[in-house]
Amino acid sequence: MEKRIKTLYVITIIAILSFMGMQTYWLYVRYEYSLDEYERHLADRVAQCVQEYKHILKTTSPRDVDSGRNDSLGAITIPHFQLSQHYGDTVRTTRTAKLLIYSYSAYELLGVAPDTPLTDEQKHIAYKLAVNKIAAPTDSIVYDASGARDENEAWTAIQYVQSERKNPFTAQGLDSVLAKAGIAAEIDIERADSMVWNDVVRYHNSVFAPELFVSRPYSPLEGRIVNITCPINPFSILPGMFSTLIIVAVVSVLLTVCLVLQFSTVLKLKRLDRMRNGFITTMIHELKRPVSTLKMCVSGLENERMMADDDTKQEIFAQTRDALDNLSAYFSRLRDITFNNVEQIPLNIMSVSPHAIFDSVIDATHIPSDKIVKFTNSIDTSLIVSADQTHLFNILNNLVENAIKYSGKEVEIKASATVHDDTVEISISDNGNGVPSRDLPHIFTRFYRGKASAGNLPGIGLGLTYVRLLVEAHGGSVDVTSTVGKGSCFTITLPQ
Ligand code: ADP
Repeated sequence: MEKRIKTLYVITIIAILSFMGMQTYWLYVRYEYSLDEYERHLADRVAQCVQEYKHILKTTSPRDVDSGRNDSLGAITIPHFQLSQHYGDTVRTTRTAKLLIYSYSAYELLGVAPDTPLTDEQKHIAYKLAVNKIAAPTDSIVYDASGARDENEAWTAIQYVQSERKNPFTAQGLDSVLAKAGIAAEIDIERADSMVWNDVVRYHNSVFAPELFVSRPYSPLEGRIVNITCPINPFSILPGMFSTLIIVAVVSVLLTVCLVLQFSTVLKLKRLDRMRNGFITTMIHELKRPVSTLKMCVSGLENERMMADDDTKQEIFAQTRDALDNLSAYFSRLRDITFNNVEQIPLNIMSVSPHAIFDSVIDATHIPSDKIVKFTNSIDTSLIVSADQTHLFNILNNLVENAIKYSGKEVEIKASATVHDDTVEISISDNGNGVPSRDLPHIFTRFYRGKASAGNLPGIGLGLTYVRLLVEAHGGSVDVTSTVGKGSCFTITLPQ
């Protein structure tokens, strides 16, 4: 049994730990999945913001014309791109993107003095006049656009160069667009040695401090790249996992409680089993004495010589009666203990003298040969209480038996009584071992035995339960004060 319980204990712990481990792993996988989804969505939003910012730059009027600076030359750039194919052993296609640059002074075109503030309409007219003059570009820049996937991409790339010349892409500008979209990010502008056409996106490089890293070429032909790093707060992932977390928590608590309850039930059953064995052993021990006395008496009755002597005959009858009384008392004690409800215990209330009853308890007490017991009966002889005589005897008898059992060689037992308005308190004190404070709250509980004091002493933990039940059947209560090594004092309070 012991071994099985130990195995069950180990298995229960392993089961709880494995379950917790599995749940944690599952939660981790779920978290990674949610983080992945979150980051992909964030990457899309970042891409949209970059696109939006590029669009703003493309559609905003040229910075220098807008600013109206006196040296401002209306710089008109015209994108242009060529596709050439070389035929040899193999056909080789090269794409060249060309930016033609035309520089004109808006003031010259309009024929106004430099420093004159220009209206929007004037700027527009200047732009139109400049476009008409595109036949004579002042400069041109040629880019190798062979890396572009198709003509469309090359065309878009040269437009980005044009846009970059007009309104340069800045970290602050992108930051304000991202901030508007509610995205916090660190932005870094970089210039690569060669052309970069493709985006680089790196997802959660760390599980607990995740970051999304996006690297986008905003002007591929010029090798200009913007690096965007968005730190992610893991707690922003949790709301999406709320239902999962609740389910995991509930299932974990249920399963753990279930396993712990199962194990504690097994322990309880084991304790009950031990109690049952102890109970049977004590019962056999208690019944042995009156049964062997009866056996002796019956053999005496069969002995004609003993029967011929009147004194011996009377002695045998007296011993038989005592043994039967003991048995009967023992059985009524067992019966009373098995009552679940104290009101079911039959009472025969009458006026009794606690002093006289304690005296009869002293007379009936069997004192072990290795002990010296001194009784002091300080209960007022004139005190009369309403109680069941037999029950009051049993109550005091139990307390006296315990006082002798849980004490050293020399025992002093004192009985006293105090009368209050409508109650009487009867106290039985001893100078015995005392009850340790951890046992005190439990000693009136059925089958409870004090760990240290009960040790090897006989008993099944029913004596004080019996006392409590009988006192409660009278409508009273029982209490104890005790100091280990000094003694205990049990007080029963009976209503009057
Ligand atoms: P049992 O004597 O069979 O163990 P009881 O219900 O009579 O059962 O007592 C319960 C426990 O209370 C005992 O095991 C013992 O530890 C403690 N106890 C009872 N009476 C005394 C006493 N007078 N002094 C010290 N301990 C006591």
